[in-house]
Amino acid sequence: MTRKYSVDVDLERYSRQIMIPYFGKGAQKKLLESKVVVVGAGGLGSPVIMYLASAGVGKLRIIDFDEVEKSNLQRQVIHAGRIGWNKAESAEEFVKSLNPDVDVETIRERVEVDNIIRLIKGFDVVVSCPDNFRTRFILNDACRILNIPMVHGAIFEFEGEAMTIVNKPCYRCLYPKAPEPKKPGIIGATAGVIGSVQAVETLKILTGIGDVLSGKLLRIDLQAMEFFLISLKAREDCPVCSGRLKKLVPSNYMGSCEITEF
Ligand SMILES: [Zn+2]
Repeated sequence: MTRKYSVDVDLERYSRQIMIPYFGKGAQKKLLESKVVVVGAGGLGSPVIMYLASAGVGKLRIIDFDEVEKSNLQRQVIHAGRIGWNKAESAEEFVKSLNPDVDVETIRERVEVDNIIRLIKGFDVVVSCPDNFRTRFILNDACRILNIPMVHGAIFEFEGEAMTIVNKPCYRCLYPKAPEPKKPGIIGATAGVIGSVQAVETLKILTGIGDVLSGKLLRIDLQAMEFFLISLKAREDCPVCSGRLKKLVPSNYMGSCEITEF
């Protein structure tokens, strides 16, 4: 059930965004009544969770099975002082101290083919912040089946990318299959840039303000300090955008995650 909020309760907290003429109390009310799933409370999830919670998104479901390690803190800044905690529960602790208006729900599960529909159904936006292609494919396919907007982000060393999928094209139009998995080095601030882009994309979807990165891929190279906006079209042979994929089949998420079974 959607919680109802009165924006008059804490106008001071949100005053700097409410004072934007085209934002106002109306957009704030929309945020306070919205429900967002964040998958992955790591490098990207940290700024996403921080800015969605501070903006007053009413409900945040945070999914992460992993535990906080010392090597995470270089970029996963919301977990300060909580090495050894489950990341979703550490994120909940952070959000509670930042903004008590937010209803946080933590899920200590790995996203899988057999649980993803249950985990995201009924939510307004899914923010994709995992560190692997397989989870991104599961999220993309499930979001398209349920028609939920998804905000994608990924980072590598000084580089990153973000796109928003509201219909076509989808993530599989960008990457039809997964490359060989590898653990990249990452500059923490790169996660801050891309995660902030994902947060602002989510806020725009929820409020209806501005233009989202739908049909556009943002690529950044912070070493050269270059930002690129690339137009994307749906692939004619995309199994998701063509509407052929109607359910999630486990065999489609092995190895390169190409869709071979419908
Ligand atoms: Zn597609």
